[in-house]
Amino acid sequence: MTNPYSWVDSSLEAIRKANWYRSVRTIDSRPGAVVEMEGRSLLNFASNDYLGLAGDDRLIAAAVEATRRWGTGSTGSRLLSGHRSLHRDLERAIADFKQTEDALVFSSGYLANLGTIAALVGKRDLIFADRYNHSSLKSGAILSGATVREYPHNNVTELKLQLQQWRSHYRRCLILTDSVFSMDGDICPLPQLLDLSEEFESMLLIDEAHATGVLGATGAGSPEHFGLRHRPLIQMGTLSKALGSLGGYVAGSAPLIDYLRNRSASWIYTTGLSPADTAAALEAIAILKQEPQRLVKLRQNVTHLQQFISEKLTISEENAERRSPKLLPSGSPILCVQLDDPALVLSVGDRLKENGILASAVRPPTVPTSRLRITVMATHETSHLQQLVESLVEILRTPR
Ligand SMILES: *Cc1c(COP(=O)(O)O)cnc(C)c1O
Repeated sequence: MTNPYSWVDSSLEAIRKANWYRSVRTIDSRPGAVVEMEGRSLLNFASNDYLGLAGDDRLIAAAVEATRRWGTGSTGSRLLSGHRSLHRDLERAIADFKQTEDALVFSSGYLANLGTIAALVGKRDLIFADRYNHSSLKSGAILSGATVREYPHNNVTELKLQLQQWRSHYRRCLILTDSVFSMDGDICPLPQLLDLSEEFESMLLIDEAHATGVLGATGAGSPEHFGLRHRPLIQMGTLSKALGSLGGYVAGSAPLIDYLRNRSASWIYTTGLSPADTAAALEAIAILKQEPQRLVKLRQNVTHLQQFISEKLTISEENAERRSPKLLPSGSPILCVQLDDPALVLSVGDRLKENGILASAVRPPTVPTSRLRITVMATHETSHLQQLVESLVEILRTPR
């Protein structure tokens, strides 16, 4: 008899051998621009807490107060015993923020994508998906049972050709895209995608995980950024990045949201969002409205860091050939410095950490080319940005 679980060990071994093994890193402090890790203070360029709200005293107070009033758990699914007025308050606040008719909150952004995509399309339908889409969009597409066709990243010409060729063979059609791409930082061509969705009678769902609280004059996301807030569109997003809490949402027309309440399995058959998470997200939206300077500061930081990187990082002569770093195009606080060699990107990440800086080394197969992924926060100081760039320049100049 062989042990039916023995494959786990051999798979782990294979993962280790391929250098794909991953493990968690423990942070021992509140989230912020500076965090404690392994007994040291590190400058944090690896967080999605763009506005610095996850450690804000007001969000913490709102979560504590909601826990005192409503308890720790919501005890059931929303349609049974798990619905509180707090949930509805949050959904109204999201709809107001997004200027949509209604919104629905899920237990996470990942679950929002699974449940929404699987409710919108099925076996007789067609999905077009950007090749660089987030894992949750890809999983939702597979779960739905629809035919999935990927198009090259942000390539609307190719998407149009595919729509011309395939759209008429299927009942419904759904186009899926990140609005800010999580591993690249660039933005989807929303105006052209909206035009195509109308021309080919297709639904369009954008994943606003890295756009909510980040893009647009009030932080409402990419439709606001492009001045296209009133076109028909399905917007999903998360409460766990710029909004500093946990949970996901879908915002759109009232009938769409009503339909999801009746047909989205990952919303119906799961426990309602906890009172603490709900209250924290509600507080974050209120703060975003009261403190527009957070967004201003975030954008200034992004511009400054882009300037520092392009001034300092590319000029150095030692950076010839394969070591030559390239700043990938970005329209967001996600800035990626491409370094073509995966081993180099890992060692740069390690050496940054030795220098007291946390940034993510991202390699294939997660992304097509190795890169250092840097995320900027509104709460970074200019000296933090300078320290990052000086450290990077020094590391790239002195190979080990
Ligand atoms: C983080 C992320 C999600 C998932 O959101 P969670 O609330 O963390 O589950 C979905 N899509 C994109 C693009 C993301 O970056």
